[in-house]
Amino acid sequence: MARKGLPGLTAQIKDKLIQQALERRLKQAADQGKSLDLPARAATGAEGTPEQHQRFDLHPGYQQVRIISEGAARLGIPSPFFKLHEGIAGASTRIDGRSYINYASYNYLALCGHPEVSAAARQAIDRYGTSVSASRLVSGERPVHRELEQAIAATYAVDDAITFVSGHAANVTTIGHLFGSRDLVLHDELIHNSVVQGISLSGARRLSFPHNDPAALDAILGQQRHHFQRVLIVLEGIYSMDGDYPDLPRFVDIKNRHRAFLMVDEAHSFGVMGATGLGIREHFGLRGSDVDIWMGTLSKALAGCGGYIAGESALVEHLKFLAPGFLYSVGMSPPVAAASLAALRLIHSERGRVASLQQRGRSFLAQARAAGVDTGTSAGYAVIPAITGSSIRAARLAAALFERGINVQPILYPAVPEKSARLRFFISCEHSEPEIQQTVAALAEELARL
Ligand code: PMP
Repeated sequence: MARKGLPGLTAQIKDKLIQQALERRLKQAADQGKSLDLPARAATGAEGTPEQHQRFDLHPGYQQVRIISEGAARLGIPSPFFKLHEGIAGASTRIDGRSYINYASYNYLALCGHPEVSAAARQAIDRYGTSVSASRLVSGERPVHRELEQAIAATYAVDDAITFVSGHAANVTTIGHLFGSRDLVLHDELIHNSVVQGISLSGARRLSFPHNDPAALDAILGQQRHHFQRVLIVLEGIYSMDGDYPDLPRFVDIKNRHRAFLMVDEAHSFGVMGATGLGIREHFGLRGSDVDIWMGTLSKALAGCGGYIAGESALVEHLKFLAPGFLYSVGMSPPVAAASLAALRLIHSERGRVASLQQRGRSFLAQARAAGVDTGTSAGYAVIPAITGSSIRAARLAAALFERGINVQPILYPAVPEKSARLRFFISCEHSEPEIQQTVAALAEELARL
């Protein structure tokens, strides 16, 4: 079986490394006096259970984590993960007492940390406390839940919306609940993990189509549609690894012709695309009803934590009564819901933020391209990759930029294919033009040095 998580190695070498690591751990445990021989073949009953099936430290996934971190340490690459930010992380941040220009935050509109957003959260705590402690269905909701959902629905010009405590959970439970074994879910090959997890949970047949290729989707539907009952097509508004976006009107046409449902995940496009930041719908001038399921996250432009689904009443009401991730899970914490509501109102009232974000993104992309950086297919909206071609190069480049006061996250295999390992720059409306110039100059110099 192919092993994931070990960049740039053949399957045989990966298996051998995992085997060696297992043997090392067994030896360590033996040295500490624990019993260790892995029974070659399980005897009958629980006594015959092999050691590796009873111990988390022998779990193959954990072995991969250890190999990656030990390998990085041997190469002298500092871990880029779990950095400790000492204050609000936006266009700048403080890590270990030092200030950095920060490109590792989804705080696109700098609304996390905005005084009105923080004040709304504080007022909600004073009024409702920090938790609603249980499911809204059974234990009741707070006015801020409905205000937020109605504001989201109005923004999309659809009947209603429902909020969940995480964006990931919103995708998993919505797709997992609405579709089943006689259905088909088709998704762009670069779709987010939460969509794939939702499809697995649903038991529906899952097929991917090549990135941003409506003709390929059309062809698959031509062959497959009649084998299934419901069909769902899932896209992202802006793809989180590449920063490009689909030709949404073409996908709307395809879904109409093939009598399918269309779902768009706006995690990275809401607050970012469109003349006033209302997302990919505004960008293309579509109606709310052109897409059946609008999904988005509250953690990015909306400065909170959670996810939403917006659409027709029958969809929202159904999810509110039966989607397990809503029904059996706590309602959003009031201060977090209040923060996202305040952020949404600010998107409507402070239009300059969206305009600066879009201008800074265009400027970063133009300068990076001019400097010969491989930015892939990025459209210059908030997400701009610098493709390095290997995980080791990406990790080294991120470490070199960190030394120079620039914090940017490397994206390594298996989050992307090894050849597409990259740095991923998230733009904020508060990045200044000189900061962008300084960053692109440092990026080009360090790339040349790799
Ligand atoms: N969809 C996409 C496209 C995402 O990028 C993410 C997370 N970054 C999610 C869903 C999950 O959202 P959350 O972080 O709110 O759980």
